[in-house]
Amino acid sequence: MLEQSAAPNLIDIRSVCRSFPKGSGENLLVLENVDLTIRAGEIVGLLGRSGSGKSTLLRIIAGLVDPSSGEAVCRGKKIAGPPNGVAMVFQSFALFPWLTVLQNVELGLEALGIDAAERRTRALAAIDLIGLDGFESAYPKELSGGMRQRVGFARALVVHPDLLLMDEPFSALDVLTAETLRTDLIDLWTEGRLPIKSVLMVTHNIEEAVLMCDRILVFSSNPGRVATEIKVDFPHPRNRLDPAFRQLVDSIYGRMTQRTEAKSTAATEAHSGAGVGTALGHVSSNELSGLIETLAGPPYSGHADLPVLAGSLQMETDEILHLGESLQLLRFARLSEGDLVLTEAGLRFANLETDARKKLFAEHLINYVPVMGLIRRVLDERPSHTAPAARFRNELEDYMSEDYADETLKTIVSWGRYAELFAYDEQSETFSLENPH
Ligand code: ADP
Ligand code: MG
Repeated sequence: MLEQSAAPNLIDIRSVCRSFPKGSGENLLVLENVDLTIRAGEIVGLLGRSGSGKSTLLRIIAGLVDPSSGEAVCRGKKIAGPPNGVAMVFQSFALFPWLTVLQNVELGLEALGIDAAERRTRALAAIDLIGLDGFESAYPKELSGGMRQRVGFARALVVHPDLLLMDEPFSALDVLTAETLRTDLIDLWTEGRLPIKSVLMVTHNIEEAVLMCDRILVFSSNPGRVATEIKVDFPHPRNRLDPAFRQLVDSIYGRMTQRTEAKSTAATEAHSGAGVGTALGHVSSNELSGLIETLAGPPYSGHADLPVLAGSLQMETDEILHLGESLQLLRFARLSEGDLVLTEAGLRFANLETDARKKLFAEHLINYVPVMGLIRRVLDERPSHTAPAARFRNELEDYMSEDYADETLKTIVSWGRYAELFAYDEQSETFSLENPH
């Protein structure tokens, strides 16, 4: 398109960094040297693990957060406060419960100084477009999740933004509702009926990105950086079962696991101390043993393709990667080129009785999760055989934000309890040896 090359870019992000204060008073670098351009006529996806800084980048573009350094520019002008022509759809819908659908949608126009009659006309058109016809006077609580998110879309579209920002807009919806909404949007987009020029969409779902986007920027974590850019030139409507579609999903899975492989090897080689800083997300020992059993059984026999496994367990990309990484950290499985493969220890675990499983789990915790070794050592050495959680929380906060330290500590407690490595008292937040001798 001629128009495209002549017009300035919609968004230019140049060498943007952003850090936030950590619990320990130092700064946590969340975005590092991010470059990104958005032009008219494209749907761009930002794909990354949770915590990789995707929402932060979106908020920078929406003018809600400033970069610590670097430049964020909208149509040639530095972004300072919400730029004109940029609207956002949130994961949590963010509707006003005391306003009707129509009032929620009109709200986006009040700030623009548009008169009441025009507001009404445009709001009704947006409501109609997005399939909410007949629900104008309903309140959000009377609507299903899918319908609520449609209101979220209508409210963003009613301002006719050049750029629509979407922060995981489908992730709070059930599988079928999410798919309907995705395909409705893509249909409207390809028919040229959406009053917008471009979309920037954040997601942690690989299939969603491949289904919807023209270009996917794969984010790496800690800190967030654009690791790869992938062009998707399949025509719409796209077919998830198309072999080329599957192959692209597979290869992105591969790329996203490659980096975690590299990271975990580095962590084990560094061994002493550094590994204490490994953040552990919320994964229960039940989920871990369930996944080991699934992998060991038919049809996998110890070796599964991640997208296939995610599909059959109805799990999101992020969840399955997260579980896979935990198994890898514990050396019960290995992530390799988009596959999850049980190790010899993983196969052994699958065939053991409960008590023997706990023992094996305990062994692996001590050997491969440095903070577990640390907790055991401190408990063994102290005459009281007890230690406050704060002792370890402080240490974790040297490496991660307060939230992550909290979550990591919760996971440690649940894994340690399962393995009977220690007891933990919630009230006093104290670790103790279960059977000191
Ligand atoms: P994503 O959207 O990819 O899950 P986010 O951008 O929400 O990631 O967060 C990235 C990191 O930045 C996380 O570690 C998060 O805790 C931290 N973070 C985000 N916003 C703030 C904030 N306002 N204050 C402190 N830390 C923050
Ligand atoms: Mg986010």
